[in-house]
Amino acid sequence: MSAYDLILQGGTLYDPCAGTMELCDLAIKDGKIAARGKNLNAADAETVMDVTGLIVSPGLIDMHCHVYPVFPYQMPDSLRTINAEEYMFRAGVTTAVDAGTTGWRNFGDFKENVIDATKVRVLAFIDMAAKGMHYPPSEQAVADINPEITAAVANTWSDVIVGVKSAHYWAKHEDADHPIWASIDGAIKAASMSGKIVMVDSIPIVPERSYPDILARLRPGDVHTHVFAQQFPLMDENGRMQPYMLAERERGVHFDVGHGSGSFWFRQAVGCFNQGFWPDTISTDLHHQNVTGPAIDLLYVASKFLAMGMPLQDVLYRVTRAPALSIHRPELGTLDVGACADIAVLRNREGKFGYMDCGGARLTGEGKLECVATLREGEVVFDPEARSMPDWQNAPAPYWTAPGTTRSWTLWK
Ligand SMILES: [Zn+2]
Repeated sequence: MSAYDLILQGGTLYDPCAGTMELCDLAIKDGKIAARGKNLNAADAETVMDVTGLIVSPGLIDMHCHVYPVFPYQMPDSLRTINAEEYMFRAGVTTAVDAGTTGWRNFGDFKENVIDATKVRVLAFIDMAAKGMHYPPSEQAVADINPEITAAVANTWSDVIVGVKSAHYWAKHEDADHPIWASIDGAIKAASMSGKIVMVDSIPIVPERSYPDILARLRPGDVHTHVFAQQFPLMDENGRMQPYMLAERERGVHFDVGHGSGSFWFRQAVGCFNQGFWPDTISTDLHHQNVTGPAIDLLYVASKFLAMGMPLQDVLYRVTRAPALSIHRPELGTLDVGACADIAVLRNREGKFGYMDCGGARLTGEGKLECVATLREGEVVFDPEARSMPDWQNAPAPYWTAPGTTRSWTLWK
């Protein structure tokens, strides 16, 4: 019996809790971080992965994505979501936070068929719309907005529901009874009743429900996602940050990227960035219609901030520790000894790279993050460079029965 299942050797360990980034080996046992230190003994582990020259980070947390890949795909307006295992591990993401794809009427199905059945850790904001944004007619159905039931569902599955989402609720509607604050106020009420945070995606912006009005409605810790979408008046006509942005941040409102198909414009993000207004969390809003661009994955979105000039540690913090704290899950986004061994091994490629936004524009900058390996609860779940495997000349046969491997192989017959 080896002391450890696996050692990541020779990497640069990013510790967001300590705020450090330094050479340090990492040992894993029974799915948990077992030891850290310089020059851990390779003989103590069943498997050693050489990660020299690479960054060893806590597994990334995508604070806003959509991972309920269930029909109705045939509906023209349906939000087409993605399969978390297919798209998250390859980007170093070990925790996917679904942002309101389902509501109180269909959350149970999401829980049973996706959350409980997926190796990616899936957490969720429950939507105020009864069937969530997966089913657009539900989003305007005022009679189905029910804070009490939503809070009850959030309390029932409090281990996976981290907040309440309000999204896509029109300010104007053909129905006479369509109070403009029904969705946001309902979400705040449900969140207050269940001790959760609120995430708001509120478009379009209209005079009766202005952007400052929306922010003022939020409580400290609540989140505005899609902050760099073109429609939000973040800066005045001279390009200076609006004072209310700074005041709301000071009050504790969180600003999340939620890149999406249309919600990230360099014309907004760079202007804010250059004035020191950086997002609290970086997320993709990944779904079927943006996974081949312009969002692609969390590392691609994070790399845009590298390219804008954000230091590497600040970028990584916003996809690890910052989202963990924002959703009140401090046990995530850490590599402390005893923590769950959710790990991303990353390479920061040097050179100039171009990045696209949602406005059909390019920004060119330095650096590009790519995923070399992903571990979920100590298991190697993505390893395209085969760093956890022996050279083929030395591979035991049959390889999939080799003792001591931390990999779970499936034999197809
Ligand atoms: Zn979304």
